[in-house]
Amino acid sequence: MEQTLNVTTTLTQFAQKHIKPFVLDWDKQSAFPKELFCQLAEMGLMGMLSMPEYGGLALNYEAYADAITTISQYCGSVGLSIAAHNSLVSQHICQFGNEAQKKKYLPGLCNGSSLGAWALTEPNAGSDAAGMTCSALRTDKGWALNGCKTFITQGASADVIVVIAKTDNGKNGHTAFLVEKNTPGFSAGKPLEKLGMRASETVELFFNDCIVSDDTRIGAVGNGFKQTMQILDGGRISIAALSLGIAKGAYELALQYAKKRQQFGKAIIDFQAIGFKLAEMATKIYAAELMLKDVCIKKDAGANTIKESAMCKLFASELAVKVSGEAVQIMGGNGYMTGFGVEKYYRDAKLCTIGEGTSEIQKLIIQREISR
Ligand SMILES: Cc1cc2nc3c(=O)[nH]c(=O)nc-3n(C[C@H](O)[C@H](O)[C@H](O)COP(=O)(O)OP(=O)(O)OC[C@H]3O[C@@H](n4cnc5c(N)ncnc54)[C@H](O)[C@@H]3O)c2cc1C
Repeated sequence: MEQTLNVTTTLTQFAQKHIKPFVLDWDKQSAFPKELFCQLAEMGLMGMLSMPEYGGLALNYEAYADAITTISQYCGSVGLSIAAHNSLVSQHICQFGNEAQKKKYLPGLCNGSSLGAWALTEPNAGSDAAGMTCSALRTDKGWALNGCKTFITQGASADVIVVIAKTDNGKNGHTAFLVEKNTPGFSAGKPLEKLGMRASETVELFFNDCIVSDDTRIGAVGNGFKQTMQILDGGRISIAALSLGIAKGAYELALQYAKKRQQFGKAIIDFQAIGFKLAEMATKIYAAELMLKDVCIKKDAGANTIKESAMCKLFASELAVKVSGEAVQIMGGNGYMTGFGVEKYYRDAKLCTIGEGTSEIQKLIIQREISR
């Protein structure tokens, strides 16, 4: 509890000074604010879930989710980048890497000198990730990676990338590897242009006879897909936290606007149509907060949270889209204009129902879990 309170207060002050004033410019220029990550690292935000012996804060999930929510209230793109770095990359190494890999990569990932990316999705394998074609073939020089990944968050700026590939032409399932940015045969495409989350870099990655040693393999050959499913379970909590932050940010802007904006001689919040919208937004945000808190408490207690993580991600991400859309509506023409910032929440929110498993896939997971 105390961890959570400290995180919120410190990050709110930081975000108001170092994120809020620049958000609209970053969005307009699709600029990935890489330098910000060094400042975030000074506060421990790049190693939130990692163990202290490697430079991490070892926060519990409740405090971690709170940090992602707080940052995302100001900028969803920064929230998304921190979430990918912490819950996908560092967690993959923490949970499944060997001691040498932890010692080699985690200190840099925690202190911000190194940025991480996590590469699963391919042009023809998104929801059906197991259908990937990117392959890792054992050769006498090491593992030869060949193929393409797409939509990879900070894939071009990352120093190290966790890559999941089909092993030995599919004979040995899937395996995860750590690929460093300067490895011959590895290259990244130009940043893809997007609807929202424009200050988060999203790229394609190419592997063309990219040889990596067996030391880069994470865990046993063939365990990559199982690892991926476990990592995505934590990742869904991050996206729920990101969604909640976006919803809260949009709601707060709309609330303040509705109190000030006068039409027909009174504040628009006093029209029941607008006041009720805000009441519903506040209620659903409260529900999402409680769901997120509950799943974090369960995760921190070591429980299996597959169903709850999917439910929370589904609810919070759909809520972010709904709330940010209503916030634009409440702010009318001004809401539609870029200067007020609320349309950015609306554009950013849509990623949340897609990334780390679409809403439809969350329903499949929930259906599977409740049918057991
Ligand atoms: C900004 C951004 C950042 C991302 N960052 C990363 C990253 O860092 N690393 C990474 O690996 N990936 C990343 N992704 C990829 C993301 O996880 C995928 O986009 C997502 O999993 C969906 O895959 P897809 O885009 O191929 O859609 P598809 O799988 O082609 O789905 C298209 C539609 O079909 C529906 N659908 C598919 N299968 C079913 C089914 N069985 N039942 C019902 N409906 C179904 C989907 O719900 C969706 O509505 C990112 C994506 C975006 C947009």
